[in-house]
Amino acid sequence: MQKGNISVQTENIFPIIKKFLYSDQEIFLRELVSNATDATSKLATLARKGAAKGDFTDKTIDIMIDEEAGTLTIRDRGIGMTEEEVKKYLNQVALSSAQEFVDKYQDDASIIGHFGLGFYSAFMVADRVEVVTKSYQDGASAVRWICEGDPSYEIGEAERDMQGTDVILHISEDSKQYLETDEIEGLLLKYCRFLPYPIRFGTKTETTYEEVEAEEGSEEKPDPKKIETEVDNVINNTDPLWKKSPADLTDEDYKAFYRELYPMGEPPMFWIHLNIDYPFNLTGILYFPKVSGKLELQRNKIQLYSNQVYVTDNVSDIVPEFLTLLHGVIDSPDIPLNVSRSYLQADTNVKKITGYITKKVAEKLSSLFKEDREAYEAKWSDLGVFVKYGLISDDKFFERAQKFTLLQNTEDKYFTIEEYRERIKENQTDKYERLVAIYTADADRQHTLIESVKDRGYDVLKMEHAIDAPTIQTLEQKEDKLNFVRVDSATPDQLVQKDEEKDNLLTEEEQETLTQLFTETVGSAGSVELKPLDVQDAPVQIVRNEFMRRMKEMQMMQGMDTAMFPDSFQVVVNANSPVVKERLLQVEDAAARQENAAYLYQLAKLSQQMLSGAELKAFIDRSLKMM
Ligand code: ADP
Repeated sequence: MQKGNISVQTENIFPIIKKFLYSDQEIFLRELVSNATDATSKLATLARKGAAKGDFTDKTIDIMIDEEAGTLTIRDRGIGMTEEEVKKYLNQVALSSAQEFVDKYQDDASIIGHFGLGFYSAFMVADRVEVVTKSYQDGASAVRWICEGDPSYEIGEAERDMQGTDVILHISEDSKQYLETDEIEGLLLKYCRFLPYPIRFGTKTETTYEEVEAEEGSEEKPDPKKIETEVDNVINNTDPLWKKSPADLTDEDYKAFYRELYPMGEPPMFWIHLNIDYPFNLTGILYFPKVSGKLELQRNKIQLYSNQVYVTDNVSDIVPEFLTLLHGVIDSPDIPLNVSRSYLQADTNVKKITGYITKKVAEKLSSLFKEDREAYEAKWSDLGVFVKYGLISDDKFFERAQKFTLLQNTEDKYFTIEEYRERIKENQTDKYERLVAIYTADADRQHTLIESVKDRGYDVLKMEHAIDAPTIQTLEQKEDKLNFVRVDSATPDQLVQKDEEKDNLLTEEEQETLTQLFTETVGSAGSVELKPLDVQDAPVQIVRNEFMRRMKEMQMMQGMDTAMFPDSFQVVVNANSPVVKERLLQVEDAAARQENAAYLYQLAKLSQQMLSGAELKAFIDRSLKMM
């Protein structure tokens, strides 16, 4: 054996490598299997071009554990290396790239897992790495290279029949888990599940059953015979669906692949097959999962691959935030993985990729909408969340989504924004020429109010999801002269502000009496206002100022102290209501009058389901007494 020293510029990177990326040690396996894959594919290319002669049909990559020897071996049947190449690639190229990596990124934990140290990541788990390799070239002899995690190495002759490389890791004392079958199988399934060449991890027992003929004359059917066979344990699917041409695939294929990715998941609603090679290379399949009724939206369900090697399931830097709700796979060798997060976001390729994915998703939604509106509407409760999320978070998407965003009214009819503007134009344009869209955040609870608003010929939208508040905000900002008000933000006649003022038919004295009466009744819970409303409108109503309420909601969302915007409401007394004018004001006895006012106030609270249990009981008792 010949000895030598690896030229290391910095002091010594091995101790750093060893400790480095402690939490992500496991990526060594991905790195080494990737190298094996590259070597296999290089040989395949050479063979195709006629530059390599021989039988290279077996491209299997073996992963082998030898517990007794304490080794884990990655064996490929790829291009292999001559002695010169070993010196060049392992002692110089691999080392210098590892060194560069360590120098640059030791402080940046965010890229751990995106990018490994290449070959030298082996030293994260091994204290001795042995490489036995033989070049594919005619007459090449095998070489053994040994390095013990310091700058010295040995190189010498070795025995090996087949071209290719064995990387033998002598697993260090504190990394013994990498000698466990389950651990390695788990890692292979995580990182290598869709690699293009078979990854074989020993064998497995397959059980089949064979029918057994009944004995002559016997009525009884014997149990089938159990047959156990040892077969190769190939852990990967070498030809994943996203690499195939969409034209050759059926819906069932896509659904089956979804099950392969998420065995526990409900079937997806639909999917998009991504496939582009210019100006960047990207393939993949994005699935739209069903989301309605789920409290928590699941993120981190998109897996990022680079040439079929798993990289990460955190794609938030690559796909727009709102699309992280989708599931599936993206595979692109053009996403730079060896860069920090901020650099990644600024990368032009990544920007283009982000734009491309957004566009594809929008196109898919648009075509679903155009092709079968009924089906699209039926899916809206699932789809709406994505679309609205996109609408509020992505300007480009907003432009596209305007055409297929639906608004749903309390009669469960759906409208595009354009259609809705048209629908409410006549009745719901206010004195400032603004369109006023009226909505409810809880159609059940606000039923009474909604009915009285509809009686005026107004339409009421359902905006019941948490995403709707920011959606409203966005629509108000971006749509021309469109305002949203909640049904309880004003008395029904004031929701759409018109010019006409009604006459107040009460005397000043009467007005003062009423104001005082109700101020006492309501106390500090809210303010009181006397207003001449329609004769048939409720005598007492409760409203919440739209602006104040939104401010409060926003503060609550941000977890801020809401003391600045207490849950205040306004009690509007209808000066024109006969109940007020002809009944309440006519009650002589002060105590009885006060009690009547309290009753009307409670009635208003009741219609908005604001009564506490005790209040409700008192209210019912009082009502029964009147019978
Ligand atoms: P990278 O793969 O990014 O080039 P590595 O440190 O992983 O960096 O490897 C350095 C070089 O060593 C590779 O470019 C390749 O030429 C050579 N190499 C590593 N593993 C193998 C292998 N299994 N078979 C053939 N060559 C290999």
